Parts: sequence; C-alpha cells; structure tokens
Amino acid sequence: KLVVLGSVNADHVLQVPRFPRPGETLHGRNYQVIPGGKGANQAVAAARLNADIGFIACVGDDAFGLDIRDSFARDGMNVEHVCVEKHCPTGIAIIQVSDEGENTICISAEANAHLDEPRVSTYQQSIQQADYLLMQLETPLEGVTKAAELAKQAGTPVILNPAPAQELPRELLANIDIITPNETEAEVLTGIAVTDESSAEQAAKVLHDLGIKVVMITLGARGVWVSENNQGQLIAGFRVDAVDTTAAGDTFNGAFVTGLLEGMSLETAIRFAHAAAAISVTRFGAQTSIPYRREVDEFLHA
Ligand code: ADP
Repeated sequence: KLVVLGSVNADHVLQVPRFPRPGETLHGRNYQVIPGGKGANQAVAAARLNADIGFIACVGDDAFGLDIRDSFARDGMNVEHVCVEKHCPTGIAIIQVSDEGENTICISAEANAHLDEPRVSTYQQSIQQADYLLMQLETPLEGVTKAAELAKQAGTPVILNPAPAQELPRELLANIDIITPNETEAEVLTGIAVTDESSAEQAAKVLHDLGIKVVMITLGARGVWVSENNQGQLIAGFRVDAVDTTAAGDTFNGAFVTGLLEGMSLETAIRFAHAAAAISVTRFGAQTSIPYRREVDEFLHA
C-alpha cells in the first residue's frame, strides 16, 4: 500500500504567447480551472496506474474542494484522510503556459496550510503501515518532516520530491530514502548548478553524503540521472512532441513509486515512469494530462 501526503490545488491556467515582463499586459487564451497540486497530481498518477493508494491532504469546503475529493475517490484512491477544512478555500495555483510548452506557476497554500505537524501526527498509523510514503513540499515543512520521522521509525521507505525548490533541514534529509529533484531543486539543495551528467553526479554525491541512498535528478526531456551509493547513470526518457510539461515531474513520481510498489527494479520503475510522464507532456493541464494504466502499457509495448 502506498501513502501520498501533499497538496491539492485548483489550477487557474492561461495559455500565453510568451511570458509577460513586469508591468506588461498580454492577451492570453483558453482559460481553464484544472485540478492540480503536486500531492494530488502524484496521488492521481498512482491511482490511475492502479496503485493501492491512500491520500493524506486538506481541501477547502468550497465547491472545488468537495468535487475534487469525489473525483479522487472515482480515480480509485482511499480519501478517508482527505480532510475538508471549514471556512477555508482550497489551495490555488495561477499558471501560465507558453506556446513553447514552458510554464510559470505561483501558488497559495490556503487549505494545504492545515497539514501541519499535529494534523500529520493523527495519521501515524496509516503512515507507519504503508509500504512507501511519497511527499513533496507544497504543504507545511513541519508536517512533511514529522511524516518522514514517523515513516522512518516504522521502516516505511520515504520518497521525497523536493518541489517547489527550497533548502531543507538535515533532520528531514536524513530520513529520506529516495529523493527526486529536478535540475533547479538539485541546485537549491546542493549549491551545484546541474547542467550535464558530471554536475548531476556531483550534486548526487552531496545528497548521498547527507544520508540519502538513492538520488534521481530529473532532466526534463533528457530523462533522469539516477545514482545509488555513488554509482550513477543516465536513463533517457522517451521522445515525444511536448505541448505542456505541467505535471510531468508529478506523473513521473507517482508512476515511479507505483512501479516500486509492484516490485519493479529501480531501472524498470524509471522506464515505466518515463513512459507515463512522456504521455502527460503531450496533453494540456495537470490532472487532465495524467494517463491511465492501459495507455502506459500500450505506449511501452508499441
Ligand atoms: P519537473 O516537471 O518536475 O520540472 P522534469 O522537467 O525534469 O520535471 O521532467 C520529469 C520527467 O518528465 C522526465 O524525467 C521525463 O520522464 C518526463 N519529461 C519531461 N519533459 C519531457 C519531454 N519534453 N519529453 C519527454 N519526457 C519528458
């Protein structure tokens, strides 16, 4: 059984010809409100790929929050610990997607701020009974730190996708088994600008020295630098025509842990995750772009 702990956001998405400069106004198009939030995206990816998954999260008591909780359940996840906060909006993200498929994102925690240390402690049993715990950094750091500590006590392996980028305390990093930063996040955590394989190797070494066994630095279209006990290699991704990379990393993480849960080797799980993420970048939006199991299996066997 997998437990994902993390954020839920309503993504307000606008397609833009390019990103506006400060003080500039541009005409966008295709405004949509799409379910997002790194925690939710990763949980949905795992659920659509048929993982046995429980999600720990906080939504607001607005229409979006109530609807999304139902939609998580329809995707097959256990939503017992998706808490509805009274008199509180669901978290939001304001997203611009350029015609090149790049994005800029600004988020506000709102209900996600309730996933603090005391709240996380109430989920001790679920965390400690899980086979894997997957988290990100869009909910309070104290809650993430507490969950990692509880998992560590029980021997539940912890996978941290350290996004959005921020520096992290050593106490948290010491309880992480597998970390999955992208290039920006790897640089913020290690001080090493990751631009190629040798800088990825150096950044991985810094993270290994902090006690993390497996370091996976995602490199966008190039794939992932995976390093286990200071032995690293590049595992290339799949070539597709990208239209929107929102949730590529989230789909990768949810799929990767699903693979591990099924007993796949690290490499096989990464290949499976590359396939799921590649499909997601060919589609618009966050949760709307996350593929189902049948699609990933067909992609891999095509
Ligand atoms: P993030 O979205 O967190 O910044 P990355 O951009 O590093 O993460 O992408 C994560 C994973 O998504 C990659 O390792 C790869 O599997 C897949 N991916 C991202 N961009 C592309 C792309 N243009 N083509 C194919 N796969 C991609």
